[in-house]
Amino acid sequence: MATVFLAGGAGYIGSHTAVELLNAGYDVVVADNFSNSSPEAIKRVEKITGRMVKLYELDIKDNSKLAEVFRENSIDAVIHFAGLKAVGESVQKPIMYYRNNIDTTLALLETMKEFGVNNILFSSSATVYGEENKVPFTETMARGACSNPYGWTKSMMEQILEDAAKADKDLSVILLRYFNPIGAHESGMIGEDPLGIPNNLMPYVSQVAVGRRECLTIFGNDYPTPDGTCRRDYIHVVDLAKGHVKAIDYILANNCVEIFNLGTGTPYSVTEIVDTFEKVNGINVNHVYGPRREGDLAELYANADKALKILGWKAEKTLEDMCRDSWNWQKNNPDGYNGKKETLA
Ligand code: NAD
Ligand code: UDP
Repeated sequence: MATVFLAGGAGYIGSHTAVELLNAGYDVVVADNFSNSSPEAIKRVEKITGRMVKLYELDIKDNSKLAEVFRENSIDAVIHFAGLKAVGESVQKPIMYYRNNIDTTLALLETMKEFGVNNILFSSSATVYGEENKVPFTETMARGACSNPYGWTKSMMEQILEDAAKADKDLSVILLRYFNPIGAHESGMIGEDPLGIPNNLMPYVSQVAVGRRECLTIFGNDYPTPDGTCRRDYIHVVDLAKGHVKAIDYILANNCVEIFNLGTGTPYSVTEIVDTFEKVNGINVNHVYGPRREGDLAELYANADKALKILGWKAEKTLEDMCRDSWNWQKNNPDGYNGKKETLA
């Protein structure tokens, strides 16, 4: 079976993807600098799957360390998850974001070329559609203007990968544009473990529910949406991970340059998320309505037809599943991975 190298594979989406790849029979090699993750996540991937993962602690920007990984393993395909992803932080520290996100991409492409590895999947984002495009977003739309440096790094990395594939016909590239991944593996052993105060909605909701935060502020209830709060295309992280497996199957069988939205195609509002979370988990989430957050769009969701047509993939889990699994992870791991390190070691 083929071997897939996960750059940044100890993170939230990488760890769930590792589980699904291993379950599908792929071998998995992970490298991460743990700037936003813990090696514990990979230990738990091994526990869930009963399979081994070769794990390297290194910075993906470091070509010589990366070369060691490629020398020691016969890699068939790469998935590039390694990136900084906090929108607000990217506004404060744009150079750090450009340096990390762009250089990891360049180092990966250079090393792949050196070792004759021709397949790469890239973790892109719905944010590249920008503000100009109308929902639902389809892959044929041009990239738009991004509202922050994080978004621009994604847009630029897409361009870099497309240019590299144009110049090297052997190189296959799949850009996966994620919508809003939430939820966790149903075991409750792996999940999202953000450092510090969460920026994203679901980790904030579940940290309020578990008592780590006082109260959720819902950013704005005067949007032109049915209940006035913003609507997003939330997707269960396990569905997202399965989308990666389908994309790996596809890229190994086809010389291609493709873009796929990974979303459900159905938007839910912030209020619907909070209400569903409370209902399925039987727990109260303190919340208040506050002002809009700068840069938020009223509605953002995918047209998910292309992934179904070409990859045979569609999201299957419900909003109830997402809310239940997020809470299952949070309540079993109130302090994330650090809180459970001793008991699971
Ligand atoms: P994450 O932070 O949990 O995972 C990213 C991983 O990359 C982390 O383990 C981090 O330690 C590692 N990393 C970062 N820079 C590195 C470097 N220079 N060298 C080695 N490792 C490095 O984030 P995630 O939610 O799993 O996201 C994975 C990818 O998907 C990211 O590129 C992110 O931008 C993208 N994405 C995420 C979302 C989302 O909502 N979670 C949405 C769209 C796109
Ligand atoms: N949101 C909110 N309170 C929070 C965090 C997020 O009301 O503490 C809202 C936010 O305004 C957006 C939605 O939840 O409408 C999803 O936000 P998130 O940051 O998770 O994702 P993104 O902005 O990338 O879609």
